[in-house]
Amino acid sequence: MGKETATYIEIEKRQTSKINDVDFSNLAFGSVFTDHMFVCDYVDGEWKTPKIIPYQPISLDPSARVFHYGQAVFEGMKAYKDENDDIWLFRPEENFNRINKSSERLAMPEFPKDYFFEGLTTLLNLDKEWIQKGIGNSLYIRPFAIATEYGVSASPSNKYRFMIICSPAQSYYGGEVRVKIADHYSRAASGGFGYAKAAGNYAGQFYPTNLAQKEGFQQIIWTDASTHEYLEEAGTMNIFFRIGDTLVTCPISDRILDGVTRKSVITVAEDMGINVEVRPIKVQEILDAYKNGELKEIFGSGTAAVINPILGFGYKGDKWELPKVDDDSYSSKIKQTIIDIQYNLAEDKHGWRYKV
Ligand SMILES: *Cc1c(COP(=O)(O)O)cnc(C)c1O
Repeated sequence: MGKETATYIEIEKRQTSKINDVDFSNLAFGSVFTDHMFVCDYVDGEWKTPKIIPYQPISLDPSARVFHYGQAVFEGMKAYKDENDDIWLFRPEENFNRINKSSERLAMPEFPKDYFFEGLTTLLNLDKEWIQKGIGNSLYIRPFAIATEYGVSASPSNKYRFMIICSPAQSYYGGEVRVKIADHYSRAASGGFGYAKAAGNYAGQFYPTNLAQKEGFQQIIWTDASTHEYLEEAGTMNIFFRIGDTLVTCPISDRILDGVTRKSVITVAEDMGINVEVRPIKVQEILDAYKNGELKEIFGSGTAAVINPILGFGYKGDKWELPKVDDDSYSSKIKQTIIDIQYNLAEDKHGWRYKV
């Protein structure tokens, strides 16, 4: 922690920074990248010397396995800068553990913990000017791993590349989100890899999401693949329902991404004295709660927006609008508490902040 340079990482610095070309007041999410990137190759059964080099395109053989069989996993995390210019990560161990869990499911090799943390902190220290102060500003961090071995035989690769790239981000407003509750398509099945943060899970949901968009929904809440009776998660967010004064979310399973924000929301809500239930939720229960006025809020949780309130939902052709949320809503109170911890503005009693 806090080291300027790690002994075993080879560093090639960029001659002149691109930072003066960037308009930080007008950033499209994930479209501008910092001066450097982290790269580490896996060859002959081991991870070779990790490197930090100027951000640049990579070159791969067209037959590289990732292009054909989709062995690709990733993570999404953020770095925040406080008023003293200190840089913080939020529960980064969770992301580290999760990318290795994802890799295991895709028959990819585990990445070493010291390489991950030394690589990440060295990269962030090199590119720290790219992290802007102020609530809402952050640096979005994208670690990922891909299969690089050439040859189109359908077998796991023997070569991989692990990389970390970073993109400055402004306060992420997810926009007005109305969701369609899935009644036909599925994102994940039991025994599948829905719990992995794998590229293929995203590829498979773009088409049904496009169809839902034509009906006026921005996202889909996926339901269980066998009956479509139980609510699971949205494609990039876990989902919470406030029924009366109870917050309900479904349990994690092999079909559901174990979100870091989800875990944090549960803990923060319990700290606030809110009754939280983690249990299967039937679509019918939500429709009934809506009808009798008990359904107060629906929101999604994820690193990008922390919490994204959901304004309405549709199911089998019918549409429902939720009451407008105010500052007293669970979603606003929980979001504010998590943001205050992330930006070093509040006590961190669970030890979630990690100083870079
Ligand atoms: C990344 C992701 C989430 C949110 O996870 P966080 O760790 O909270 O960012 C939820 N669902 C899916 C499918 C995801 O890929």
